[in-house]
Formats: sequence, C-alpha cells, structure tokens
Amino acid sequence: MKNINERDQSKGYIPLRLIIRDKMKRFSERDESFICENCKKEVSPLIYSSRDHCPYCLYSKHVDINPGDRENPCKGLLKPIGIEKYKDTYKILYQCQKCKISHKNIVAKDDDMNMIIQISKI
Ligand SMILES: [Zn+2]
Ligand SMILES: [Zn+2]
Repeated sequence: MKNINERDQSKGYIPLRLIIRDKMKRFSERDESFICENCKKEVSPLIYSSRDHCPYCLYSKHVDINPGDRENPCKGLLKPIGIEKYKDTYKILYQCQKCKISHKNIVAKDDDMNMIIQISKI
C-alpha cells in the first residue's frame, strides 16, 4: 500500500522550474531569438526591450506597422543605409528591399559599434 501512495503523489507534482519557465515565456513573447536573414547568425533575445534588428549586421525585417505589432505583411529585408542622432542615442535608417519604404530603429546596447560607424560613413 505504501508504494502505491508514493507513486500517486509523484504524478501530481509539478516542478517549480517548469512553472517559472512558462511564466517567462509569456512575459517575453515579443522578444524571441531568431536567425538573421542577412548574415545567418543566431540572434538572442534583447531582454530589456524587443529586439528589432540584427546586432551583427544591423539588418532588420519589415514586419511592423506600429513598433512591435508585427502586423506588416511586407516581410522585406530592411537594409541599414545611415545613422541619425536621436536624443542621447542613435537611430539606424533603413530602406526596405521589397517595398522601398524608409524605416528607423533605435540602436540596441549590444549592436556592433564597428558596423554602426561603417554605416554612418555611407
Ligand atoms: Zn545579421
Ligand atoms: Zn517593406
């Protein structure tokens, strides 16, 4: 009898780390890792904000109508074409390779500084 009881208890037991992982997943829904379509590197989540461009080559994807909504059906590759000063940081200027629209993203903390300097010289 003692053995059966022990088995029943272990069946209903949910490890705490699984519950935490589930909550974290919901919290960071819009900030997920992805493979960059330009340089093919794996880009990890940004944590403090939604990642909207690749930190290695700075390319982005035309997916938003309003920032973060992912509602744009274009899905073209946004090519970085310049840098613009914005408050105490910078914005990367983009042109969509598909629909040719201009777009801007604020630089992220872990963006490749050498790439930003290179683009600012274009
Ligand atoms: Zn990239
Ligand atoms: Zn586009």
